[in-house]
Amino acid sequence: MTSTPARLLIIGPQGSGKGTQGVRIAESLGIPAVSTGDVFRANVKEGTELGQQVKAIIDAGDLVPDELTSAIVRDRLEQDDAANGFLLDGYPRNLGQVGDLDVFLEGRGEPLTAVIELSVPRAESIARLSLRAAQQGRADDNEESIAKRLSIYESETAPILDVYRGRGIVDEIDGVGSLDEVYARIVSALSARGITA
Ligand code: AMP
Repeated sequence: MTSTPARLLIIGPQGSGKGTQGVRIAESLGIPAVSTGDVFRANVKEGTELGQQVKAIIDAGDLVPDELTSAIVRDRLEQDDAANGFLLDGYPRNLGQVGDLDVFLEGRGEPLTAVIELSVPRAESIARLSLRAAQQGRADDNEESIAKRLSIYESETAPILDVYRGRGIVDEIDGVGSLDEVYARIVSALSARGITA
């Protein structure tokens, strides 16, 4: 059986564990995990021009403008290591970005092959984010920013799932459980689509 190319998106509310699971899945499939949040944070840390442009937006829990975000993702996906697949984490995050990504991937004849939706109840997300705030001291893990990011997720990000559901590529995964349990659920959903290591 030829395996299906792994052009993946992992999506879920902040605190759903998508970053951790995304890295693990990408490593097992030998594809890069592309996290827009990580790209922005690295730039803020290094004090690049991009970092200076986005710092206040990120700290407030708002979204970086689509044009800027989509251009960064396109550049990243054009690099050689993404030629055989990739896992997007945190992008697209609204319908405008879905449109941008569609134009880019359809231009290459390489649409997304699976969208992993990690479901975690809101109360659990908040509890996990508060714990992360205590452990990692992320500037955007304060109460106000957390509330704003979760409400942006519900109003802007959740609707993009309807678009992908219409394409039949969404796998809803229960995100409550140990890291290993959730990972195993994702692996099994992907292999049902022919996406295997
Ligand atoms: P994350 O680590 O995915 O929660 O992202 C952290 C922050 O980076 C978000 O709260 C936004 O300010 C910004 N960000 C990350 N990805 C995007 C995106 N696709 N569009 C706009 N802003 C983003």
